[in-house]
Amino acid sequence: MNGSILSGGSTHIRYQHYHFPRLIQVVCPNCLNPAKLTHCDAPEAIAHFIDTDFENRNWIFFCTNCVKRETKNWTEIPALKLLNKIEIRQELIWAWNADHLDYIIGLLSGNEIKDHKWSFFKAYINKNWFTKTKNISDINKLKTMREANSFHL
Ligand SMILES: [Zn+2]
Repeated sequence: MNGSILSGGSTHIRYQHYHFPRLIQVVCPNCLNPAKLTHCDAPEAIAHFIDTDFENRNWIFFCTNCVKRETKNWTEIPALKLLNKIEIRQELIWAWNADHLDYIIGLLSGNEIKDHKWSFFKAYINKNWFTKTKNISDINKLKTMREANSFHL
């Protein structure tokens, strides 16, 4: 499962906090194009939310390329590969979606947007990400990924 959502200690996910993104960008296992997972009950206006009943919720998988649609339980989601992930100096940097990545880029480049809708997730960010992205070229790799994947939001 290397590179999947549950790919070990290099991630900053804390599942026990019951805090979930509304939208997760993933790679379609069927055609390898960008696809989306959307929480079935979360209002479209919010980016993330607390769901203490998450085990009973469904997520909708949809790929606009191969038009595969599927209902998934949270337990099935870690098997999918995140779209927004990149290895920089042996460190896997990832985000739930391009908006989340936008916040991370700001933070890592010293231009944090304090009232960003993803600032709640600041505490989840791996400290290694700061030391591994000191060069402008590293930040630019993240920006390139964000630009490419913002299109698919
Ligand atoms: Zn597909």
